[in-house]
Amino acid sequence: AKEMGRNTFQFYTPTMIERTLDRLSIETDLRYALDRDEFVIQYQPQVSLATGRIVGMEVLLRWEHPVLGLIAPTRFIGLAEEMGLIVPIGAWVIRTACIQTKAWHLAGYTDLRVAVNLSPRQFTQKALAQSIADVLAATGLEPHFLELELTESMIMNDVDNAITILRALKQLGVHISIDDFGTGYSSLSYLRRFPIDVLKIDQSFVNELNIDADAAAIVIAIISLAHSLRLKVIAEGVETPEQLAFLRAHGCDQMQGYYFSRPVNAEQFELLLQQESGA
Ligand code: C2E
Ligand code: CA
Ligand code: CA
Ligand code: CA
Repeated sequence: AKEMGRNTFQFYTPTMIERTLDRLSIETDLRYALDRDEFVIQYQPQVSLATGRIVGMEVLLRWEHPVLGLIAPTRFIGLAEEMGLIVPIGAWVIRTACIQTKAWHLAGYTDLRVAVNLSPRQFTQKALAQSIADVLAATGLEPHFLELELTESMIMNDVDNAITILRALKQLGVHISIDDFGTGYSSLSYLRRFPIDVLKIDQSFVNELNIDADAAAIVIAIISLAHSLRLKVIAEGVETPEQLAFLRAHGCDQMQGYYFSRPVNAEQFELLLQQESGA
C-alpha cells in the first residue's frame, strides 16, 4: 500500500485564550469565508479490496483561515449549520467536487466515483434535488458517479419526509450512502424501505477489529447484511494491514483510511491516480 507521508496539513489546536475568542470571531469570519475563497477540499481515496485500485474518493472540507490556519470540518460545520451557511457552503462543495471529478474523467480516469457528505439542513432543504440536477447538467458528470453520504439520524428524524427526498434524489440517478453505519439511531427496517446503495462501516468498529471480538462480529454482520440487501459496503478508518486483511477475508467491497492514504488535495490525488496507472 502507498502512504502519503507527512506532507499533509497539521490542524490548528486552540489554546485557552483563543478558545474564548474562538466562537465570536469564527462566526464573523465564517460568514465571509465562501466569498473570500477560503474553503478547500481534500480527497480521500476509496480502494477496491478485490483489485487494490482506487475506485473513487470522499470529499472532505477544510477551512483555510487567514490567521488560524487550517480548520477541521468538525469545528465549523455545526456552526455553519446553525447559521444557515451550510446550504451555500454545501452547494459549493458539490459543485467543486463534480467539476473536479468530470475533469478526472476527461483525463482518462473514467470510472471514478465521488462521495460528498450532506448535512441535515442541506438534506431537508427544498431545492436540494433541483440544485444537484443543475450541477450535474452544468458539469456533465453522469449522475451515477455522484454518491451522497447521509447519516442514519438524518433519515430517522422524519422518515416520511426522508423517503420523499431520497426518491427525488434517486430519480436523478445519484447514489445514496449511509455514513457511520451502526452508530446512529438505527432501525434496520429503513434499509428495506429506503433506496440506499452503500453502507459505510463506521471507523469505531474498524479501529477495534483486531482487539475486540464484538467489533469484529459487528463488522462481519454489517458486510453480510449489506450483501444480502445487494448494497455495496465500504469500511472507513482502515489504518493497519491487519484490518485490511480482515476486511478482505470477510468480503468487504471497498476501504478508505490512512493505511492507503490520508485525505489529500487535488494535485496529490492526481499523483496517486497517475502512480496507479503507471503514467
Ligand atoms: P466523516 O464523513 O465520517 O469522514 C471521515 C473522517 O475520518 C474524516 O475526518 C477523515 O479525514 C477521517 N479519516 C479518514 N481515514 C481515517 C483513518 O484511517 N483514521 C482516522 N482516525 N481518521 C480517518 P474529517 O475530514 O476531519 O471530517 C470530519 C467530519 O466532518 C466528517 O466525518 C463529516 O461528517 C464532516 N464533513 C467533512 N466534510 C464535509 C462536508 O463537505 N460537508 C458536511 N456536511 N460535512 C463534512
Ligand atoms: Ca462521510
Ligand atoms: Ca464516516
Ligand atoms: Ca463521522
